[in-house]
Amino acid sequence: MMKVSDRMNAIPFSGIRRVFEAATNREKRGEKIIHLEIGRPDFDTPDHIKSAAINAINEGKVHYTSNFGIQELREAIAEKLRRENNLLYDPGSEIIITVGTNEAVFISMMALLNPGDEVLIPDPCWLHYFYCARLAGAVPVSVPLREENEFQPRLDDFVSRLTAKTKMIVINSPNNPTGAVFDQNVLRSLADFAQEKNLFVLSDEIYEKMVYDQSLHRSIGSFPGMKERTVTVNGFSKIYAMTGWRLGYVVADQELVGALIRIHQYTTVCATSFSQWGGVAAVRGSQIEAERMVREFDRRRNLVYEALKEMPGVRVTKPKGAFYIMPNISRIGMSADELCDYLLEEAKIALVPGNAFGLYGKDFIRISYANSYSNLEIAMERMAKALMKRRSVASLNSH
Ligand code: PMP
Repeated sequence: MMKVSDRMNAIPFSGIRRVFEAATNREKRGEKIIHLEIGRPDFDTPDHIKSAAINAINEGKVHYTSNFGIQELREAIAEKLRRENNLLYDPGSEIIITVGTNEAVFISMMALLNPGDEVLIPDPCWLHYFYCARLAGAVPVSVPLREENEFQPRLDDFVSRLTAKTKMIVINSPNNPTGAVFDQNVLRSLADFAQEKNLFVLSDEIYEKMVYDQSLHRSIGSFPGMKERTVTVNGFSKIYAMTGWRLGYVVADQELVGALIRIHQYTTVCATSFSQWGGVAAVRGSQIEAERMVREFDRRRNLVYEALKEMPGVRVTKPKGAFYIMPNISRIGMSADELCDYLLEEAKIALVPGNAFGLYGKDFIRISYANSYSNLEIAMERMAKALMKRRSVASLNSH
């Protein structure tokens, strides 16, 4: 019997996808499930972006592009980064357009990590960082994001996990799954730490525009001295509702990009040509639709937060960014897995157990509020009812 590579032993099937499939199987049997498990905006891609891609197809822009991506998109991104993020990158040599932010993370880790290198990753987190690090032969090391600290990272937690093998730290702010927006001072201290210990920083800023209550997003690569060691990744999926377009980018110092581009060449060659033309329209065109989506996410955030606050056994931190909320459910008396199974069965809502986001997620569940306001109202009502029911059964049993 032929065997797949040993490498694959360290790479399980995604926990989020598992929930999604369980929910979809129920739907095939006729159940109506409200999906709060996936990080996919429920909006459609804005029309001016679609038109740009359709025009590109009609104009015959259907061939391989430069490995780096089309010049127009790289220039549009360089200008956006300068204007909005205080990041200065040369569109000719320091930007690669990728097949989603997923690919941007993958090629960064493959190009920068040696087998045995350690990567400090705030946890709970989007586990893609863990598995890309493992695919590169490196060792992901969890650094806790603590609920009592509103899921802000603490420098001490990084310092205490530093070893001679530490090579990179990962920053994801606004954060999936906690919704935290990392404080500027925390970012500054992590930037100093990275310089002092000579570490790379991988900064995933895909939720940068989804910030609420006057919170500010700051790119860690914009602190003095950080350019040479920071790899910033971002993408179009979330803010422009373009998950299916598979479009993202990575920016870094020329020398690092020189390594990244070779992984990109031997995996995807280039991002889809007409997706890239849609990307130009997204960056250069009107931001009104994107801003409208953010306002709507904010409204939903308030709805879900207020509802969770009242639920028995639930403790919740108000998120400041992205479109996730991560309540602590440890006082309900079920594991996160059991609770998600129960809520899928009883309330017909699909949620992800926190353990799908790392070692420090087990007391939590993640709710994505990228669903319509009315569906969220129904979901929160059903969840509250199911938890009340569960509490009365539990108290009957204890008498
Ligand atoms: N980064 C984070 C933090 C995410 O949550 C996601 C989507 N779940 C991605 C990147 C993936 O983005 P893309 O669709 O651009 O590959």
